[in-house]
This record gives sequence, structure tokens and C-alpha cells, in this order.
Amino acid sequence: MAAMDIANHLRRHKKSLTRARAEIWHILTQSEKPLSPDEIHRRLTGHKVDLATVYRNLRALKDIGLVREIDLREAFKRYEAILPGQHVHHIMCQVCGRIEKVRHCVVQNMANAIQKESGFTLKDHSLECFGICPSCQPHKTKAQGT
Ligand SMILES: [Zn+2]
Ligand SMILES: [Zn+2]
Repeated sequence: MAAMDIANHLRRHKKSLTRARAEIWHILTQSEKPLSPDEIHRRLTGHKVDLATVYRNLRALKDIGLVREIDLREAFKRYEAILPGQHVHHIMCQVCGRIEKVRHCVVQNMANAIQKESGFTLKDHSLECFGICPSCQPHKTKAQGT
């Protein structure tokens, strides 16, 4: 989403595109993985925004549907920009904490069955996976050394 679109989107929701909010959005769109409020705070440069402000702005961005909250079973939630046409899931390594995107969505294939069983119209879903990444799997590390 271009900066102008975001400004329009925010205006429609009667919230101003504050500098901090725009910068948080920009940081999230540039990130390869969902970020914690602390990581976002560390990446905010140039002006003084405290962590509480980061949390407040994340909540505001989430309320208007620009940001998605992701729970990877950590002590905090992570945040990701919602970009049109982009739908991803995440997989996290339980050894090193590395997070990767999973673009293949198995849930979409089950949508009909879920809707049929529940009578709900499925609008959104989330699925987070946990495992051990290739570099943390002992046998694969050995194989790479040869
Ligand atoms: Zn790992
Ligand atoms: Zn999905």
C-alpha cells in the first residue's frame, strides 16, 4: 500500500496519520518477519517515541485493519503489516527462534468444510507452526559440512 493510500485509509477511520504511526507502518512493511513492539521501538530513529506510544500506535493500526497481531507463544505479541493480496503463515524454530513465512495456505482448502460444519462464513484465520529449522537439525548440519 502506498503512503497516500494509507493516509486515505486512516482518514476514513478518522485517525490522523501521525509521523510515528507512519514510521511504524513503514518499518513493518520493510520487515521480513513479524516484529515485537520492542524491535519496532529499536528501529524507530530520529525522534523520541516511547515504548508505550509504540503499543498505542500498534493498537490503532490494528483497529483500522492495517496491522495484524501474531502470537508465536512468546511473552509478547508480534505485528505484521497487512498488505493487499498477501496472505502468509509463519513457522518458528523452537531452537534458535528463527521465523519464516509459509506462503502455502492449507486452511484455504479446508474453508468449505469448516463453513459447512460451522455454518459460519469464513473471513479470516491464523495458523502458526512450530518446529526445528534445517540448521538446527543435527543430521542436516553434518550433511552441509561435506
Ligand atoms: Zn533453528
Ligand atoms: Zn491461510
